[in-house]
Amino acid sequence: MASELEPEVQAIDRSLLECSAEEIAGKWLQATDLTREVYQHLAHYVPKIYCRGPNPFPQKEDMLAQHVLLGPMEWYLCGEDPAFGFPKLEQANKPSHLCGRVFKVGEPTYSCRDCAVDPTCVLCMECFLGSIHRDHRYRMTTSGGGGFCDCGDTEAWKEGPYCQKHELNTSEIEEEEDPLVHLSEDVIARTYNIFAITFRYAVEILTWEKESELPADLEMVEKSDTYYCMLFNDEVHTYEQVIYTLQKAVNCTQKEAIGFATTVDRDGRRSVRYGDFQYCEQAKSVIVRNTSRQTKPLKVQVMHSSIVAHQNFGLKLLSWLGSIIGYSDGLRRILCQVGLQEGPDGENSSLVDRLMLSDSKLWKGARSVYHQLFMSSLLMDLKYKKLFAVRFAKNYQQLQRDFMEDDHERAVSVTALSVQFFTAPTLARMLITEENLMSIIIKTFMDHLRHRDAQGRFQFERYTALQAFKFRRVQSLILDLKYVLISKPTEWSDELRQKFLEGFDAFLELLKCMQGMDPITRQVGQHIEMEPEWEAAFTLQMKLTHVISMMQDWCASDEKVLIEAYKKCLAVLMQCHGGYTDGEQPITLSICGHSVETIRYCVSQEKVSIHLPVSRLLAGLHVLLSKSEVAYKFPELLPLSELSPPMLIEHPLRCLVLCAQVHAGMWRRNGFSLVNQIYYYHNVKCRREMFDKDVVMLQTGVSMMDPNHFLMIMLSRFELYQIFSTPDYGKRFSSEITHKDVVQQNNTLIEEMLYLIIMLVGERFSPGVGQVNATDEIKREIIHQLSIKPMAHSELVKSLPEDENKETGMESVIEAVAHFKKPGLTGRGMYELKPECAKEFNLYFYHFSRAEQSKAEEAQRKLKRQNREDTALPPPVLPPFCPLFASLVNILQSDVMLCIMGTILQWAVEHNGYAWSESMLQRVLHLIGMALQEEKQHLENVTEEHVVTFTFTQKISKPGEAPKNSPSILAMLETLQNAPYLEVHKDMIRWILKTFNAVKKMRESSPTSPVAETEGTIMEESSRDKDKAERKRKAEIARLRREKIMAQMSEMQRHFIDENKELFQQTLELDASTSAVLDHSPVASDMTLTALGPAQTQVPEQRQFVTCILCQEEQEVKVESRAMVLAAFVQRSTVLSKNRSKFIQDPEKYDPLFMHPDLSCGTHTSSCGHIMHAHCWQRYFDSVQAKEQRRQQRLRLHTSYDVENGEFLCPLCECLSNTVIPLLLPPRNIFNKLNFSDQPNLTQWIRTISQQIKALQFLRKEESTPNNASTKNSENVDELQLPEGFRPDFRPKIPYSESIKEMLTTFGTATYKVGLKVHPNEEDPRVPIMCWGSCAYTIQSIERILSDEDKPLFGPLPCRLDDCLRSLTRFAAAHWTVASVSVVQGHFCKLFASLVPNDSHEELPCILDIDMFHLLVGLVLAFPALQCQDFSGISLGTGDLHIFHLVTMAHIIQILLTSCTEENGMDQENPPCEEESAVLALYKTLHQYTGSALKEIPSGWHLWRSVRAGIMPFLKCSALFFHYLNGVPSPPDIQVPGTSHFEHLCSYLSLPNNLICLFQENSEIMNSLIESWCRNSEVKRYLEGERDAIRYPRESNKLINLPEDYSSLINQASNFSCPKSGGDKSRAPTLCLVCGSLLCSQSYCCQTELEGEDVGACTAHTYSCGSGVGIFLRVRECQVLFLAGKTKGCFYSPPYLDDYGETDQGLRRGNPLHLCKERFKKIQKLWHQHSVTEEIGHAQEANQTLVGIDWQHL
Ligand SMILES: [Zn+2]
Ligand SMILES: [Zn+2]
Ligand SMILES: [Zn+2]
Ligand SMILES: [Zn+2]
Ligand SMILES: [Zn+2]
Ligand SMILES: [Zn+2]
Ligand SMILES: [Zn+2]
Repeated sequence: MASELEPEVQAIDRSLLECSAEEIAGKWLQATDLTREVYQHLAHYVPKIYCRGPNPFPQKEDMLAQHVLLGPMEWYLCGEDPAFGFPKLEQANKPSHLCGRVFKVGEPTYSCRDCAVDPTCVLCMECFLGSIHRDHRYRMTTSGGGGFCDCGDTEAWKEGPYCQKHELNTSEIEEEEDPLVHLSEDVIARTYNIFAITFRYAVEILTWEKESELPADLEMVEKSDTYYCMLFNDEVHTYEQVIYTLQKAVNCTQKEAIGFATTVDRDGRRSVRYGDFQYCEQAKSVIVRNTSRQTKPLKVQVMHSSIVAHQNFGLKLLSWLGSIIGYSDGLRRILCQVGLQEGPDGENSSLVDRLMLSDSKLWKGARSVYHQLFMSSLLMDLKYKKLFAVRFAKNYQQLQRDFMEDDHERAVSVTALSVQFFTAPTLARMLITEENLMSIIIKTFMDHLRHRDAQGRFQFERYTALQAFKFRRVQSLILDLKYVLISKPTEWSDELRQKFLEGFDAFLELLKCMQGMDPITRQVGQHIEMEPEWEAAFTLQMKLTHVISMMQDWCASDEKVLIEAYKKCLAVLMQCHGGYTDGEQPITLSICGHSVETIRYCVSQEKVSIHLPVSRLLAGLHVLLSKSEVAYKFPELLPLSELSPPMLIEHPLRCLVLCAQVHAGMWRRNGFSLVNQIYYYHNVKCRREMFDKDVVMLQTGVSMMDPNHFLMIMLSRFELYQIFSTPDYGKRFSSEITHKDVVQQNNTLIEEMLYLIIMLVGERFSPGVGQVNATDEIKREIIHQLSIKPMAHSELVKSLPEDENKETGMESVIEAVAHFKKPGLTGRGMYELKPECAKEFNLYFYHFSRAEQSKAEEAQRKLKRQNREDTALPPPVLPPFCPLFASLVNILQSDVMLCIMGTILQWAVEHNGYAWSESMLQRVLHLIGMALQEEKQHLENVTEEHVVTFTFTQKISKPGEAPKNSPSILAMLETLQNAPYLEVHKDMIRWILKTFNAVKKMRESSPTSPVAETEGTIMEESSRDKDKAERKRKAEIARLRREKIMAQMSEMQRHFIDENKELFQQTLELDASTSAVLDHSPVASDMTLTALGPAQTQVPEQRQFVTCILCQEEQEVKVESRAMVLAAFVQRSTVLSKNRSKFIQDPEKYDPLFMHPDLSCGTHTSSCGHIMHAHCWQRYFDSVQAKEQRRQQRLRLHTSYDVENGEFLCPLCECLSNTVIPLLLPPRNIFNKLNFSDQPNLTQWIRTISQQIKALQFLRKEESTPNNASTKNSENVDELQLPEGFRPDFRPKIPYSESIKEMLTTFGTATYKVGLKVHPNEEDPRVPIMCWGSCAYTIQSIERILSDEDKPLFGPLPCRLDDCLRSLTRFAAAHWTVASVSVVQGHFCKLFASLVPNDSHEELPCILDIDMFHLLVGLVLAFPALQCQDFSGISLGTGDLHIFHLVTMAHIIQILLTSCTEENGMDQENPPCEEESAVLALYKTLHQYTGSALKEIPSGWHLWRSVRAGIMPFLKCSALFFHYLNGVPSPPDIQVPGTSHFEHLCSYLSLPNNLICLFQENSEIMNSLIESWCRNSEVKRYLEGERDAIRYPRESNKLINLPEDYSSLINQASNFSCPKSGGDKSRAPTLCLVCGSLLCSQSYCCQTELEGEDVGACTAHTYSCGSGVGIFLRVRECQVLFLAGKTKGCFYSPPYLDDYGETDQGLRRGNPLHLCKERFKKIQKLWHQHSVTEEIGHAQEANQTLVGIDWQHL
């Protein structure tokens, strides 16, 4: 270890090692004053062990501490060797049935949604898997650390409290058994002694506040003079600030500073300097000076080293105690006793109290150690948990006060332990009754919120930052209150009632401070100057929402409490609004002969507040009363008589009017804060205790008042009284055209008021208001959400209010109202409304936002049209009201209501200008509809003795009163149904008239009623219906025709895009119907097709015409014409790599000529297949570049592509590209000399080529030594006999046009630049090699994809792939024409020499280390450079064929040498066939050449099988290669899927079916070649097992296997700790899906430097694992991360879905997640297809915010 080299390490004090634990313990046993004895021991030894230098050495310290300090204590405790003592204790122990496992950060925890008493009850993974809950609806989360497993806590679970493991212990449980009975008296006494001393010591030293002086009993005689400069953590300063300051103050490197900062952040403190006092003091002052500028300075102390030493040991002791009590429950109980025993100073002097009360003074590390000890001791012992809870409650106020002053997060505060007591029902109730906990919490809360206005209400305006910070902290008190209330009492004692009501009083005090807070006044004239503070008040409201609901739930569970609470609430409301008249003069309103007194109050002129929690709580309690039995049986017990309805409705009504006015645009000048408040008022998070309750309060009021009075007050508050009380006001009012705005405003207000009346009558789905239950309520919510559109589970959950357990109750009813549609490969599962539920749709559902309402209306009308029904959306049939609210329906038939309806209908009939609106009319129609439904129901349910008093039909048939002889409402409706301007509402009016007739008929169902009239109506009705049906049919036909035309048009527009995006994105979705079949022109089936060689099938050249996507011009592809190019993307790839540890170290020196068969780094080329003129592309690219430069100057925005690196987006499909490939004709045809007579065989050919090579090498040498003497020169010329017909001085004429040549160079250079990551240099000799390599690699990767998917080799490829491969192959074949002939010849010679050795190439790789396909491609494509100088008559085709045969044979030898020789016992029964004996013979030859190093000879059957299997990929790649090179169509047999196409491939490639024949035919030369291959020392080393080699066939790489259950991944990641900061848990563990490495991402600790920049662990990993491209899973987030290079990245949807077919990115919902194999395959496919970078590009184009993320820091 490096640390041992550091000079400050001091040798271990001998005396320490000589200590004997047994002896010391013995001494202690004899001691009279044990405390003194132990303290002296500690005083002497602790400073010798701890803090001996600037850096801690935990291992050494721990070892010595165990030996010298803890060892004696263990001996003393056991009274014998602890190695025997502890196991004995453990055996005697009856372990507790509690699991109590303390969670690590990031560990998965599980809660059962069916059985957990509240969501804080969780299980550890092990317990969960062994529990009944794994089959329930559970929820999974990751722990933030702290907290423990609740397995075994019977109070935490409604069912199944034990897992299998912990259930074992339950049979013997006797609740009251004292665990001490299992211990001997001696042990108890000794344990007590040692625990008392050590615990006290630890508490004393940890809470010690002096900096250089020890407690007296620990002070030493000789004290060293060493100090530490100790830096403490705070939450104010950032990492960067601390790092920067430290570099300055203690002069350390950045790396050291990061180390210090990380430790300070984790442990809460770290010494940053060690030395004498002065030295440390100096550092301290620098730090303080540097950090005190803006905020309070960092906390630094100069501490004497012995104090730090004792503190470190104190912590060690606490951990030790925690582990010792694990041996026995008895020991645990003793520790609890010791801890809670009151000290000499009385109250609050126990050790536990002392620790708690100094919590906020302790540093983070110390806190977490003692919290852990509390959890494993006090909280695990049920008896002491109770006592501890009492201590906690008694100290509650002080602890909270300390917490407010402290700046650490709550998670590291002792106050966070509240969840452990408060959520336990019996404890909570005990604390309420005995410690008055409810009141204490609320009062503590009130104490911390002191800012009040003159009326005593909270005031958050002009909050300072510090106050705001405190306000955030104080909210945790609400959480505590919630915990206390979370389990409702099943039984009430008088004491509980009393204390609860006391708490309720305190709560009302709190609400009283909120009632009317943040009042606002309408701004007229000018816009407000400063947006007022509103968020604090709403935060408070939001946090309290569940508490308010729970308070009501508690009240509801006991009638006595309910009535008392109701009275108290009412009293407080009266206090709040005692003077609600605000001193205004009362005024009298009258309409239709009714009159009422009220006050003059205008929302638009006076103060109004949106916060009315007291009124709303009363509304809630009122509904509960209405539900209770008392309400029916003893209504006289209710305090209803004390209610003053006008007072009750006043403030809620103002609030609703405010909303209406805001909507009408009257409050525009009040800015956004008001808009936001109105938004939240209706929002799902708040509405339950805001908007909903205001509606209830109005309903309560109306049900107790004369509805006419109510309506008049309402008109007055809406400031519409004038309009409806003055006859003909409408006419006058509409003539005042100048006040257009006012008219508009009033229209909206009228609409809003009508909407409110609809709500008051229609909203009866809260239990207590209407006769419904909770299920009906939630059903109705869901029906209305799904009426807007089908929704995913999570969307639906978001739109529904959650209760305190985060439940919406949706699962229980969703089946009844919706169908579930499973998701496909993308998207998510959706719920669709069942058609039969559509009739329950209410257009004026009160939780719809405006946008939702209009969407729902549209959707429902569309649905009706589709079903060929009329489009009326009549009000649904409603459940009856509860008795307390029953009289509410009368509002519909009240005189004032009828007057309002009549007036509006009259306006509609007159239809003059804009003084009325269709929305208004629509609402009136809805109201009439509701009234008719109501009457119908009344008639249906009528019983003998009751008279139906609801007589709406009669009332609307009578003519109006106000202006005499004005028409009846019915008459006006009949008029309106023919109004041409009301086409949309016709169906609704018709529905009303029909229903009217039906109701009338019911009412007049006596035999004497005039039948004819009704029949007449019906007749009329039906003929009208017919008419309508005909009209509708025609309209439908017209609509269908229109739709068809539209579809066709958009189809045409989309055509291109579809082909390019949809189809191309699924690159290899080889769907025959959608992909183009280009090359597969019909070929006679009996014709044998040959792809290469002299016998190559000659295909007549087809002329090819292409269109440029940029200028739309068509052009023929010809040798001499302007170049056409395809957009292309070149990238490095490790997708096929078999060795991820290998990467190019020094690209400048790297020689890529031979590809190793591990394919560790290749160059892949892809293309979207879009063709452009080279010059058109050039112009386009220049413009992109120019634009980018301008853009960067203006605002430094990133784009999804990197222009400086030559990247651009395809102008058509926006596919990421970085170069272009030229489009070419088969290049071989240009150079082929048609002379097929008398071609040499392989042996002859090899000789000829060898001679030519020799000649070339000679000439090369000649050139490089020009100064040689002429004599020597001539000698050499004599020596050199140029082979016949070989003219090395000949330079062929290149037929390509300049433009094509230029493009050949462009693409070649791009491949070189990207493939090697070097600067472009078109002269570099490696350029051609990179081109051939990319061609070979791309073909190999496509062959792999096809094989993996069992697709045929020449099946229909999508055109973009087909085009890409063709262009790439032809380009690679033509590239030599723009390179230097001698360079290419040089490559050829070297490649050739790897198989046919010659003298001038010494260090060539052995054949085990050459990828044969890359070799083949290189040889074939380099060959023309040699062949063009050969005039002996050997054709290019002959050369290709011989090269191919030679490489094939080398590959066979490669396969045989590496074939797996294990016998599988499946010896064949048939006699060996020809191939088998041939291969066996060849194998024997090999055996011989390798000096018998090759393993024993297996069967020929086995060998032939390995050869066939091993060579298939090579043959397939070769077939693709020659197909594209020479343009010979593929044989039809290979175009269809089938098992093996071995024979067809052989014939297409001009190979014998028995491949071994190749050797036999050419045995003359082959034997010597094989011998030379086998002689290579590497082959020998391999055969002797000294090295490894790649075997064939190479298996395809796959992404790693992922577990089915996501939680096991979380668990795996929670065990992962950062590799750099010793054992620390990683905050963002990230899994590489390619190799399975877990990385510590997005964190300082694991940043490394890459090419001069700091990058995160993921980016660094991509460079070694994926040559820049990475696919990761962020485990905590459940999110897939794609990275490419340093600047590009995107998130991708993870392959894990919940049962509702949805992903959970960020793990917010916590539903169980399971692996979706199809989606994971899709990710793997993206990887195989090299489409990750492209995917990132598309994602970034679609979402610009992705571009700004610092991907390199992940
Ligand atoms: Zn557990
Ligand atoms: Zn368990
Ligand atoms: Zn359960
Ligand atoms: Zn063009
Ligand atoms: Zn494109
Ligand atoms: Zn790390
Ligand atoms: Zn990896």
